[in-house]
Amino acid sequence: MEKIKERIERCMTARPHTDLQSEILNVIAAPIYLYTITGVFYYSCVFIMPYYYGSGTWTLFLHRSLLLVIYFQMMSNWLCIRLVDNSLKTASKHFSINKGSHHKDNESELQGIVVNGTNQAMKSSIPGPVSAPSTPRRSSYWSWRLCKKCELTAPPRCHHCPFCDNCILKRDHHCFFTRRCIGFYNQRHFVVFLVRAMFGTSYTSVYFVPYLFKVVLLSA
Ligand SMILES: [Zn+2]
Ligand SMILES: [Zn+2]
Repeated sequence: MEKIKERIERCMTARPHTDLQSEILNVIAAPIYLYTITGVFYYSCVFIMPYYYGSGTWTLFLHRSLLLVIYFQMMSNWLCIRLVDNSLKTASKHFSINKGSHHKDNESELQGIVVNGTNQAMKSSIPGPVSAPSTPRRSSYWSWRLCKKCELTAPPRCHHCPFCDNCILKRDHHCFFTRRCIGFYNQRHFVVFLVRAMFGTSYTSVYFVPYLFKVVLLSA
């Protein structure tokens, strides 16, 4: 109960660089998504598919299996988007990003590691502590910048998210449906999620729209 109260208070106060609508959306979008996607899946399996294919037939079994695969794919990628950590703080544990002296030889190597981003590559190719440029250039999209909130020098394309309160590597946007930022490590899951969502919505629309006209609207 305390947690719910705290959450309501949290969403009723806009943080710096956000607004109230975005805060509310950040709280309600994920439960709405889960409720809708599960509802559509359940309704399609239990009511719509038997209406078209009868009960206990092989075609019904095949269509239900296909729906289950789409649902599983969407949910697993949704979970991956949530669980994968894109934050600069976590990445900086694997290699040091300081405001210290600038090793020019290592800078390009470090940027390569950020781009390739595997632990193996990090371990094998870093001879010692690696430092970011000592004097970050003027703020621009392609330069290193100092994030005052995280107190870390952020590489290019890394931006601070006011909702996650973290610097996100290769930040694309903050996804309200997952309450996470889409960035370097979870963009693949986001793309797969979008493709599955597109396929799933087209597939269910083909059955749902005629069903809505015939059964729900005409019988009302
Ligand atoms: Zn930051
Ligand atoms: Zn975010």
